[in-house]
Amino acid sequence: MEKIILSKLSKDELVDYIVSNNEKKYRAEQIFSWIWAKNAKSFDDMTDVKKEFRAFLNENCLITDCKIKQRQISNDGTIKYLIEFKDGCVAETVLMRFDNRANLSMCVSSQVGCKMGCIFCATGKNGFKRNLLPYEIVSQILLCQMDTDLKITNVVFMGQGEPLDNFENVTRAIELINKNLQISIRRMTLSTSGIVPKIYELAKNNLVPTLAISLHAPNHQIRKEIMPVEKRYDINSLQRALIDFSNQTKDRVTIEYILIGGLNDTDKCAGELIEFLKDIKCNINLIPYNEVEGLSDFKKPDKKSSMRFKYLLEKSGKKVTIRLERGADIDAACGQLAGKVK
Ligand code: SAH
Ligand code: SF4
Repeated sequence: MEKIILSKLSKDELVDYIVSNNEKKYRAEQIFSWIWAKNAKSFDDMTDVKKEFRAFLNENCLITDCKIKQRQISNDGTIKYLIEFKDGCVAETVLMRFDNRANLSMCVSSQVGCKMGCIFCATGKNGFKRNLLPYEIVSQILLCQMDTDLKITNVVFMGQGEPLDNFENVTRAIELINKNLQISIRRMTLSTSGIVPKIYELAKNNLVPTLAISLHAPNHQIRKEIMPVEKRYDINSLQRALIDFSNQTKDRVTIEYILIGGLNDTDKCAGELIEFLKDIKCNINLIPYNEVEGLSDFKKPDKKSSMRFKYLLEKSGKKVTIRLERGADIDAACGQLAGKVK
C-alpha cells in the first residue's frame, strides 16, 4: 500500500486522518508540531507519541518522500541542497544565512528546469522537465530544517523554475508555508520573469507574497534579446500589470535588474529605466551578473560601474540596493542553479 505523505496535509486534514485511525485530536496536534515546528526527522523522534502509534505511523506514513541527495556548504555559510523527488527528478534549494541570525532565508525551486529560456540563466539551459507539487516545494524547507535543526524565517521563490508557470501548486505551497510552517506572508517573495496574466491573478489571491520582477532591461529591444518571454508579454503590458498589482495590494514591488557589463548598464539605460519605473511603486534590486559556465560570454560589471548605475537610479528617489552575492563558490548564486549532480 502507498504510504500517506503527511507533508501534503493541512492541519485539519491531518487531524481527520489521525482521528479516523482511532487516535485523539491532541495526538494529531503533537504530530503536526513535530513535523512543522520541531524538525522531527522520523516518527521515532516524536517522543511524546506512544510507541504503538509510532509503529502505526512508521508502517503507514512518511513525513516526506523527498530526499537530500547532496549538500554543499559555501565559504560564506550558504548551503545548497540537491533534492531528489520520488520519480528521480532533482532540483536545488539554497539556505542563505545573513549576519543577522534572525533571518534565515530559503530560496526554493518551483519547477524541474524552466521553459522560459532566459539566455543568461543556467536553469533554462537544460529545458523543462515538470512542475513541482506543493509538498515537493514545502519539503525543500522541511528537509533543510531537519538537516540544520534551524527554523527558516523567510522564503523566496527564486530557485529553479518560473513560479507563475506553476501557479496553482505554488499558491497551495504558499498556503502550507504560511499555515503549517507559520511563516508570515510578509516574509515571502515570489520572483517572476513576467507572465502578465498571472500577475493580475496573483494580486487576487488570499495570500499575496511580495512580488519581484525580473526586468533586466529598460526597453523592449534589449529585453527581447535576453528574455524570450518579452515576445509574448512585452514590457508595456508588464508595466501596466505592475501598476495594477501595487494598487491592488498596496505594496511596493521589487524590480530585479541584472547588471550585464556593456549591455544594460549604460547611463542611457539608467535614464530609460527611471522613466519606465516612474509610475510604479517599487524598490530596485541590482544583481551583478553571475558568470555561468558554458552559457553566454556576458561579463560581470566592475564595481565602479555598478555603483555609478545605482547612484544614477537613486536620483529618481527610489530605494536601490545591490544584491549581495551568496554561495558563488558552490554555484548557488542567482542564475547558477542548474541542478546538476557532481
Ligand atoms: N524564474 C524566476 C525566479 C528565479 S531566478 C525569475 O526569473 O524571476 C532569480 C533571479 O536571478 C531572477 O531575477 C533571475 O533573472 C536572476 N538571474 C538569472 N540568471 C542570472 C545570472 N546569471 N546572474 C545574476 N542573476 C541571474
Ligand atoms: Fe527561468 Fe527565471 Fe532562469 Fe528565466 S531567469 S530561465 S524565468 S529560472
